Amino acid sequence: MKEKKTIALVAHDNRKRDIIEWVEFNHKTLIKHNLVCTGTTGRLIEECLQKCLPNDEFGNMRMMKLKSGPLGGDQQLGSLIVEGKIDVLIFLWDPMQPQPHDVDVKALLRISSLYNIPTACNRSTADFIISSPIMGRSYKPMIRDYSEYIERKI
Ligand code: PGA
Repeated sequence: MKEKKTIALVAHDNRKRDIIEWVEFNHKTLIKHNLVCTGTTGRLIEECLQKCLPNDEFGNMRMMKLKSGPLGGDQQLGSLIVEGKIDVLIFLWDPMQPQPHDVDVKALLRISSLYNIPTACNRSTADFIISSPIMGRSYKPMIRDYSEYIERKI
């Protein structure tokens, strides 16, 4: 991971207000990094950052918007993690409501764990991650050696 990280941001509908408040509070740190969001979360974050940032800074901001979560955005994000393109995942999922794409949510959390991606599922953890000194430094996460799975002998 380089100093400039790629941060993925996703929030279920009941957690969107939380993520927007969090983004607003942390916008000065967030704009130093690249952002990747699922569709609706991304649109709301973009609107929030447009209000917080001067025009030129907003223009320089890098955000990739994926499909909406229920339409496959979580799976797209999982695939970016597998490709090594995501450094941090902020995923405010809703613990009180079933989602139409619950299986995708579970898959995304599994992949973030498999690839040892720092993952926040609540605001406190997101606060700890964003204020970590490692956020502004390069960092080499330990990845378990899964080579035995590449060509499994069955
Ligand atoms: P959304 O998707 O940002 O498009 O709402 C989030 C999700 O439900 O995973």
